[in-house]
Amino acid sequence: MQLNDMSLLRQQCYIDGQWLEAISGEKVEIADPATHRVIGSVPVMGTTETKAAISAAEKALPAWRALTAKERGAKLNRWFELLLEHQDDLALMMTTEQGKPLAEAKGEVAYAASFIEWFAEEAKRVYGDTIPGHQGDKRLMVIKQSVGVTAAITPWNFPAAMITRKAAPALAAGCTMVVKPAPQTPFTALALAELAERAGIPKGVFSVVTGDAIGIGNELCSNPVVRKLSFTGSTPVGIKLMQQCAPTLKKMSLELGGNAPFIVFNDADIDAAVEGAMIAKYRNAGQTCVCANRIYVQDAVYDEFAEKLAAAVAKLKVGVGTEEGVTTGPLINADAVAKVQRHLDDALSKGATLLAGGKLASAGGNFFEPTILTSVDKSMLVAKEETFGPLAPLFKFSDVDDVIAQANDTEFGLAAYFYGRDISLVWKVSEALEYGMVGVNTGLISTEVAPFGGIKASGLGREGSKFGIEEYLEMKYICMSV
Ligand code: ADP
Repeated sequence: MQLNDMSLLRQQCYIDGQWLEAISGEKVEIADPATHRVIGSVPVMGTTETKAAISAAEKALPAWRALTAKERGAKLNRWFELLLEHQDDLALMMTTEQGKPLAEAKGEVAYAASFIEWFAEEAKRVYGDTIPGHQGDKRLMVIKQSVGVTAAITPWNFPAAMITRKAAPALAAGCTMVVKPAPQTPFTALALAELAERAGIPKGVFSVVTGDAIGIGNELCSNPVVRKLSFTGSTPVGIKLMQQCAPTLKKMSLELGGNAPFIVFNDADIDAAVEGAMIAKYRNAGQTCVCANRIYVQDAVYDEFAEKLAAAVAKLKVGVGTEEGVTTGPLINADAVAKVQRHLDDALSKGATLLAGGKLASAGGNFFEPTILTSVDKSMLVAKEETFGPLAPLFKFSDVDDVIAQANDTEFGLAAYFYGRDISLVWKVSEALEYGMVGVNTGLISTEVAPFGGIKASGLGREGSKFGIEEYLEMKYICMSV
């Protein structure tokens, strides 16, 4: 990997403003999921180093929270600018460790930076309230204060944005944060730390610890100094972390799995629906928690939609993310490929028809062809589980109430999408879908200005938007007798 600025490739952890090896000296090699070539290595840290990072965050807290919002915002703004200045390097690093095509990686760097810019601005808008007194001599106020020391555990599918979406509101609010990035994508996280250091964010305010997920996770959850944990990842791990945080009653934000329905009604603009489905399904090779997992198409337009979707899929190019024109990179690892294959085999064995793709791509390794299945029904695994890969199952439906019931028939409740033009239908379906986010006539809903998050088994809390900073603030009611 040849970066313009090779000092962004950090192979040590960033704790208390220092670049450190693990106490044990142990390191783990990180490989490119497309080529299996080793990129570099990072320290395998555990409980002791995590404790040190938490102590540093505690030590840094008073001075950081004492800065004015404008002063914190200025440092965050510099961090934001540095991300954009190094967009190409960060994108190449991300493609190399995560696999997504370079254009998508550049887009993610901009998206990641946008959270820092947004929350640098929001820092100044942490307003309180005054409440008319309940007695003549009483004056009541509500002020908002930072939660304190916080922690984040993040996934590999968005190696930069999942960190900034947590760290930016935390730091803006006056919290300090210790981050444990995904083991597959530590370099992007460490590069963010390098840029935070260059931006003048004081030591201890933002630390990154790589290594043993269980050891680091246990300490982040059980240490009473940490007052909040924000996690993005799978539902089972989210539940486990919540249990581990229970004894110290931490605040929690959990952004967990999804099983997004994507519904196309008879009156939809089919070309637009195909375009939306391509983004909602095949972006990041289908590895996003808001990816369309189940595509329901109404009977009158089913064949047309399937045919047009197949034509669009035929234009996708699978390959190494740094190659020109590649739209679909590798899956993150062999397990991810095995899951797509399992869902595909199960559906085919129960009567589904293969319309496109269906096998490992010729590029080899972790590459899977963008795939479409028709004649899919609810007995199949694809109806129940999140595939997290480039497999689009097309269900046929006729009745509106029936498709709403099917769409809601899942433990998850993150994102849902539908295409239709009848205004009454649009409102009815928007309100009936049991999801935290609904895209109507669009397949792309993520933005820093809107609240991202789910209900049911998809989690707790919201990230981004004016609501996102609230997750890092406590409310204090002051009752004054005059
Ligand atoms: P995925 O299957 O997409 O990797 P996970 O939920 O397993 O999703 O992982 C998301 C993040 O949670 C990663 O940073 C991973 O290392 C971390 N993680 C997984 N298991 C634990 C655990 N028991 N304690 C703390 N962190 C964990």
